[in-house]
Amino acid sequence: MSRQEWPDWLPIRDELRDLSPYGAPQLELPIRLNTNENPYQVGERLQSALQAAIGKTLRHLNRYPDRDALELRAALARSVSESTGAALDANWIWAANGSNEIIQSIDLAFAGDALGFEPSYSMHPIIARTVGKKWHAIARTTDFEIDIDVAERAIETTGARLVFLTTPNNPTGNVIPLAKIEALAKFTLERRALLVVDEAYAEFATERSAVNLIRNFPNVIVIRTMSKAFAFAGARLGYLIADPKVVAAMLLVRLPYHLSALTQAAALAAIELRAELARDIESIRSARVDLVKELTQLGLKVYPSEANFLLFTGFAGTAHDLWQKLTTYGVLIRDVGIKDHLRVTVGTRAENRAFIDAMTELVRG
Ligand SMILES: *Cc1c(COP(=O)(O)O)cnc(C)c1O
Repeated sequence: MSRQEWPDWLPIRDELRDLSPYGAPQLELPIRLNTNENPYQVGERLQSALQAAIGKTLRHLNRYPDRDALELRAALARSVSESTGAALDANWIWAANGSNEIIQSIDLAFAGDALGFEPSYSMHPIIARTVGKKWHAIARTTDFEIDIDVAERAIETTGARLVFLTTPNNPTGNVIPLAKIEALAKFTLERRALLVVDEAYAEFATERSAVNLIRNFPNVIVIRTMSKAFAFAGARLGYLIADPKVVAAMLLVRLPYHLSALTQAAALAAIELRAELARDIESIRSARVDLVKELTQLGLKVYPSEANFLLFTGFAGTAHDLWQKLTTYGVLIRDVGIKDHLRVTVGTRAENRAFIDAMTELVRG
């Protein structure tokens, strides 16, 4: 994207001057495999539950919502305890309008520079910069792993107080083994830094959650979202799991009544019916395995992924060329800015078929 010109009369902050708004190209194409949503629509049963839950709030919309979202946070605590084995209650959870707002609140509340291992989620540096933080980008290895010695040296020399990890990583799909996260948790705790573990895709992975580290390492903050596996991206609900002192700091920077009564009611209803999601998550995982097989058969290199997307390379021509040609087949995937690589979200069986059929024609020529 080209740099914008700002008029003289507009006192735009210097650190924003050269930024571009976050924006994956959103084209109105039939097969959209570009933003890692769960491809399955909201089922009839959940739709009815949502209607009933939202309906109950309507009469009271003259009033502000529960600004501490206690009932919702308690439900999230039960849900996370159930899936990770950690014993949590509402004091260990904070919720916001998507995990991006969670990331922003963390950046607002805590001092010092931020650091992350790239390529990774592009909003981590963008949000850090918009709140006036310095961002240190540390390179992953050629296989997109984090080298622990490199990581520790970078944390030491930059003095960063906020260290971001993403596991499974977006856009590469690989997980960071829990032992490595634990080593970094210890290292950062000794330096009074926070270790922020973005687990937006954890429900698709088999590795244990970093939630299990929090009791021993109170500097670990785990971020989750209902946008991906939970199939609830349109509702905007993200949350963190952390020591109650971290949650107390979130209360200082949240806007009053930030989470609407409609959002709270909808999220609660969806969490109650979470068991119904398991089947869809299983289908996405098994479709991912098939997609790896088919892309590999086309002669492409596919990176190991524990998320609901795949990063691949090994095609002729540029990533942008192939991305563009796929759009002429009605298929939208994502050029994530890694040279000669593209990322595709695992869709429904029919969507994956359409993608593979288009790829077969384009790659085999
Ligand atoms: C999609 C994504 C998020 C964000 O999502 P919200 O919709 O704001 O909850 C956060 N982190 C990563 C790594 C993501 O891929």
